[in-house]
Amino acid sequence: MIQLLSSNKSLTTICIEIRKIRKMEYKHFSHDHHLNLYQSQPGQNLLCHGCQTPISDSSSIYACWTCKFFLHDHCGNANRFIKHPSHPAHPLILIPTPTYCSGAFICNACGSLGKSFSYSCPTCEIDLHLNCAFLPPKITHNSHPHDLVISPNLPKKKDGMVYVCKVCDKRMGDKNWNYCCVGCDFRLHTFCATNEVKPGLYVDDEDPDSVSVNRDDEQVIELTEEEVIQLYKIQILTQMMSNANINANV
Ligand SMILES: [Zn+2]
Ligand SMILES: [Zn+2]
Ligand SMILES: [Zn+2]
Ligand SMILES: [Zn+2]
Ligand SMILES: [Zn+2]
Ligand SMILES: [Zn+2]
Repeated sequence: MIQLLSSNKSLTTICIEIRKIRKMEYKHFSHDHHLNLYQSQPGQNLLCHGCQTPISDSSSIYACWTCKFFLHDHCGNANRFIKHPSHPAHPLILIPTPTYCSGAFICNACGSLGKSFSYSCPTCEIDLHLNCAFLPPKITHNSHPHDLVISPNLPKKKDGMVYVCKVCDKRMGDKNWNYCCVGCDFRLHTFCATNEVKPGLYVDDEDPDSVSVNRDDEQVIELTEEEVIQLYKIQILTQMMSNANINANV
């Protein structure tokens, strides 16, 4: 690697090599086989194994067709651990299958069951769906004129009444997160507030995928030289690690 980086390769050559690496097979820690980058086609009705939500047409996914195992590209690229504002004490680790005997977890954010990827703190038994871990801190919703901010708990109402979500009219659990406008005492379930919000990739300074890389060969990649070298190093390391895994498995 050092040899490659210190050689006199031009920026264009390095960009082409990045593209080649990106087109190669991809190894995800949650699956035994290599995955290929693929574009979903209309009518395929695929489900993402990571976030358990349907994959829309024409999105980039990682696929193992033998096992019918699919991941949204943002789910496949989700960081192995994150520092989450809801749990500053410990990092949350990406776990591919719940470690509980039941084989499922209850998400601390939305309160519903999960059986696939989660961001977890095993020490504190905190578990979040992939999409719930990336809920935006602030949203606008057509049911309310003001911004709604995410809130990790429900305050007790003085009159002993319970909170009812203004979208679905159902009672809100006091242990789960909600979106609220404090001034108006207006609250929504996270899933009711965000069913139209597309889950995005977690933005992290150290995440190579937050750098805008154009995957289309016909178009120009605009990266600074430093970014390219950084990306290249990461890609080579990933490749080396996945090769090492294959060798270890033989
Ligand atoms: Zn997904
Ligand atoms: Zn497979
Ligand atoms: Zn959730
Ligand atoms: Zn913890
Ligand atoms: Zn609701
Ligand atoms: Zn308001």
